[in-house]
Amino acid sequence: MESSIHPLPAEYRAISGKTAIQRIRKIKQRLGDRLVILGHHYQRDSIVEISDFVGDSFDLSRRAANLEKAEFIVFCGVRFMAESAAVLAKPHQKVIHPDPDAGCPLADFAPAGMVKNAWKELETVLNIQKVMPVVYVNSSAALKAFVGDHGGTTCTSSNARKAFEWALRQREKVFFFPDRNLGKNTANFLRIPDEQVADWDPYIPFGGLAKEEILKARVLLWKGYCHVHTWFRKYHVEQARENYPEAAIIVHPECDPAVVRAADGNGSTKFIVAYVRQAPAGSTIVIGTEINLVNRLADQNPDKKIVPLSKSPCPNMGKVSPNDVLFVLENLGEVNVVCLPKPVITSAGKALQRMLDL
Ligand code: SF4
Repeated sequence: MESSIHPLPAEYRAISGKTAIQRIRKIKQRLGDRLVILGHHYQRDSIVEISDFVGDSFDLSRRAANLEKAEFIVFCGVRFMAESAAVLAKPHQKVIHPDPDAGCPLADFAPAGMVKNAWKELETVLNIQKVMPVVYVNSSAALKAFVGDHGGTTCTSSNARKAFEWALRQREKVFFFPDRNLGKNTANFLRIPDEQVADWDPYIPFGGLAKEEILKARVLLWKGYCHVHTWFRKYHVEQARENYPEAAIIVHPECDPAVVRAADGNGSTKFIVAYVRQAPAGSTIVIGTEINLVNRLADQNPDKKIVPLSKSPCPNMGKVSPNDVLFVLENLGEVNVVCLPKPVITSAGKALQRMLDL
């Protein structure tokens, strides 16, 4: 949720990318430590160029909150990332999202209201105290707040396994939102049998499940997905094996479980970046994740052959331009400031803190 939402004015649209970057650099120089610009790995190169830190969403938010001198945190990514930064920000910090139109279709699969309805349905079938909600950070602050208020935790693709283990130590079942594939890949890793894992279709009463199926399930998975990662199919892996028999194939765990099984490894963007950096010179690595990151890894590692499993861009990540950043910097603290209700910050903060404590 953003207050003072302003679309990009026409005069800013007309500025060339090069001029926008020059003006941004001058503002950065003038503001020094008072300003920090964060860029997600999937952002375009011109945004990475002006970012003080580049990384995955949660690490960036945490890092920004710890920069005491930073009064203005400009988060170049999608909306849920800027919201998480706002939840973790210190009271003197303002978080700004340069393009309020850059959302995340995966996060949008699970509006908090739909999850609350599903929760109420579950309450009619079983003792709800036996169910632990776990939410992927790729979700709205409102959903994180619901999870925080019900004893649950957030997780990232790096620590989903830990989060599931934590949840199942305390309660009989996990209800995971919104990424079905990350949930299923995590359940597979933990060797939870298929018959104890059930998909919850939010558009059908009771998720489309019979009472017995709900009672039998240890893991309930909200049926959302990231279209960028479900683009990769098993045949892409088979083709890559034929074309690059020497290659290691690594994919993101938001990919379909059949793709994850066929690959040599899977992990978060952070894992993928570290994997490439640590690989010996001369290695060939085929990567199944967002194309901006794959292309950048290829540029940064000329001694290795980095190949995309297939080209899959995230159009929402691509929305943030240097022109958007210039606009928010020249109207600093006045436009596109992320503004969340206090109760949401408190409750979502509980879910995020539980993850940090894991
Ligand atoms: S890559 Fe997928 S999860 Fe990430 S912002 Fe784009 S749609 Fe959302």
